[in-house]
Amino acid sequence: MHCEIICVGTEILLGDIIDTNSQYISKRLNEIGMNLLYHTTTGDNPKRLKAAFEEAYERSDIVIATGGLGPTQDDLTKETAAEIMGLEMEVNDEWMKNLETIFKDRMTPNNLKQADIPKGAKMLYNKNGTAPGVLIENNEKTKAIILLPGPPREMIPMFDEYILPYLMEKSGKTFYSRYYKITNYGESALEHMLLDLVDKQSNPTIATYAKEDGILLRVTANAEKKEDADVLLQKYEDIIYQRVGDGIFATEDVSLSRVILNLLEERNLTLAVAESCTGGNLAAAITENPGSSKVFYGSMVTYSNEAKMRVLGVQKETLEQFGAVSEETVREMAAGIAKLSDADVAVAITGISGPEGGSEEKPVGLTYIAVAYKGQISCRKILYSTRRRSHQLRTANYALNMVRQIVLQDDEK
Ligand code: ATP
Ligand code: MG
Repeated sequence: MHCEIICVGTEILLGDIIDTNSQYISKRLNEIGMNLLYHTTTGDNPKRLKAAFEEAYERSDIVIATGGLGPTQDDLTKETAAEIMGLEMEVNDEWMKNLETIFKDRMTPNNLKQADIPKGAKMLYNKNGTAPGVLIENNEKTKAIILLPGPPREMIPMFDEYILPYLMEKSGKTFYSRYYKITNYGESALEHMLLDLVDKQSNPTIATYAKEDGILLRVTANAEKKEDADVLLQKYEDIIYQRVGDGIFATEDVSLSRVILNLLEERNLTLAVAESCTGGNLAAAITENPGSSKVFYGSMVTYSNEAKMRVLGVQKETLEQFGAVSEETVREMAAGIAKLSDADVAVAITGISGPEGGSEEKPVGLTYIAVAYKGQISCRKILYSTRRRSHQLRTANYALNMVRQIVLQDDEK
C-alpha cells in the first residue's frame, strides 16, 4: 500500500513555519511499515493545489493532506479533494450542531462552510478546533484521501485516533514495539553495531532516532498475536543488550537526566558535580527537570587551574606533574566536590573538547570522569573526537550514565 503526504500552506513555502506535520506522519507510517513515496508542499493556489491532488491520487493508494481546512476563502483543501473524487459538498449535521454550540450567535457564513464535507465521506471529529477532518474512500475502498487540519495540536490527536487504526487495519497487520533509550554510542556507531539486524529489516524492523541525550531505538514486530510478537522482540532484545547493554538506560522515551534523578531520589541520594570541559552542561541537563533540587546540590564549573585548586582543593603539584586533564586531577576534583558539598554522589569531569589544546600525548577528545560514591572513587578515561559542542554534551551524558551504572552496581552488593 503506497501513501503520500500533501502539506498545504503558503506559510511553509515561504519558510515562515516548519512542516512538522509531514515529519510526524512519516514517522508513524514508517512504524507500521507503510510505504511513503512522496512529500509535496503546495500553497493555497487553487490550480496548483488541484494538480498536486490529482497527481498524488493517481500514483498512490492513500493521500494524506494537512492544512487548509479553515473557514477562510483561501482554505480550499476540502473542495479540491471533493472535485478530484467527483463528489458534491453537503452539510454534515453532526458538525453543524457542534459549530452551533461553539459559536452560538457569533456564527458567520464562512464558519458555516466548515460543516460542509464531500458527500459520502466520513467526518473525523476534531476535539481541538473548528475544522473537522475528512476521510474519503473510492467506491471499491482501494484508495482514499484523508484531510486533516494544519495546527499540529489538532492534527496529531486526530491522526492517532482515527488514521493510524484505519491504516493499520488496511495493512492487515498488527504491530508491537519495544523502545530502548541508549547513550554512550553515537547514532552511526550504534547502527554499525546492530548492522546485521538493521540490514535484515523485515520482521522485526529497527529504527533509530537521534536525541540530545542519546539515541532512541525502536524495534517493531508484526504478528497476529502479541505472544508471537513477543518472541520476535525478545530475540532482538537479547542481542541488543548483549552488544550495547551498557548504554541502555531506559526502555521508554525518557531523558537520561530524568532517569538519574529518579534513581537517586528513590535511594535518597544527593548529587554534586565539578565540571571543567562540559562547562555546566551536566548541571543544565539535570536542572531541566522540575523538582531536581531535591537531589541536586549544584555544580561548580571549575574551568581554570586556579578554580580547581581554590574551590576543589586540587594540589598544585598534581596539576603541574600530571596536567589538568589526567586521572590524578579528576580524582582530586571528585574528592574536593564531595567534601565541599557533602553530597552522596560526587562527579568530576575534565577533558579537552577542542578544537585546540590537544597534543600527541593528550589528543582532543581525551576526557576523564570520576564518580565518588560510598567512600570510593571510580574513574574512567574516554576518548572520542567530535565537535566541541557534541563533545560537551556527550561527555555530560557519559558521566550521568556512569552514575547510573555505579549506583546500580552498588545495589547488587
Ligand atoms: P485553521 O482553521 O487553523 O486555519 P487549517 O486546517 O486551515 O486550520 P492552516 O491554515 O493551513 O490550517 O494552518 C494553520 C496553522 O497550523 C498554521 O499557521 C501553522 O501554525 C500550523 N500548521 C499548518 N500546517 C502545518 C504543518 N505542516 N506543520 C506544522 N504546523 C502547521
Ligand atoms: Mg487556515
